[in-house]
Amino acid sequence: MATYAFGHKIPDSDSIVGAIAISYLKNQLGEEVIPARQGDISAETEFILNKFGGKLPELVTSVAGHNVYIVDSTDKIHFQDDIDEATILGIFDHHKLGDLTTSTPLEMWVRPIGCSNTVIKEVYDYHGVEIPKDIAGMMMCAILSDTVIFKSPTCTKVDTKAVKELAKIVGIEDYKALGMEMFIAKSQVDGASSRNLNTRDYKAFDMNGSKVGVNQLEMVDISVLESRKEEIMADMKAMKEENGLHTMIVLLTDIMKEGSQLLAVSDDYSKIESAFDCKLENNQVWLDGVLSRKKQIIPFIQPLF
Ligand code: MG
Ligand code: MG
Ligand code: MG
Repeated sequence: MATYAFGHKIPDSDSIVGAIAISYLKNQLGEEVIPARQGDISAETEFILNKFGGKLPELVTSVAGHNVYIVDSTDKIHFQDDIDEATILGIFDHHKLGDLTTSTPLEMWVRPIGCSNTVIKEVYDYHGVEIPKDIAGMMMCAILSDTVIFKSPTCTKVDTKAVKELAKIVGIEDYKALGMEMFIAKSQVDGASSRNLNTRDYKAFDMNGSKVGVNQLEMVDISVLESRKEEIMADMKAMKEENGLHTMIVLLTDIMKEGSQLLAVSDDYSKIESAFDCKLENNQVWLDGVLSRKKQIIPFIQPLF
């Protein structure tokens, strides 16, 4: 029996770095924990690991009989199929509470702030454990990613303070420039198939029995995808069929213009129109100021199911 730390399926930087940061912290506290992941990492996460010399966590797709620390979600649908047969020792998250339950007591750190790594930074501080330079750098980048360099409405003073403290540990002054470099790495779409684009940051949600899939592409300039929208929509239709979805949404988020182009394929488009009080044109709409899936998209769709 091993103890693993990991985040959600289709791991983002918060999930990967969170797994590394929690494992190191627990190891310092005398507990053996192995950083893990549930899938391939993104170009952004690769950028972060390369920049700070981080090791790629182990791929773990089955956890029955093991102990686990969970990062960045509490929705069962985002974890291994046998997650119910694992013992959850702890949760470190910043999302709505999902449907994971436990039969034993656990530690739970869930806060309405911008990033799981900000939560984890607070846990380091709570235990008085020093964060090594390389992990501090990765945590700083994860927070810059989740908060879209502080632009996201999910960003709080706790997050900006954490980034500043982590930057000091790393010895980086212009952390916003590093954040931009990271988003440029994330924005690369040359040669990527529409399926690759549609699954880069894909999350499924169980909405009262209906499955809704939402993918988000956070880019420095979404106009580079203008000519590919039709092909992206065709693949969304295919994904909707393959996964038995009620609705598939792709958010093309422009972090410079600070808004998102929403593309939808749905059994009921009126749900999207009433959720965002908008009129879809060619199954699309520009949502000004919308940067956050968890705060500005999901809470408006979920009540309609
Ligand atoms: Mg995440
Ligand atoms: Mg996160
Ligand atoms: Mg994200």
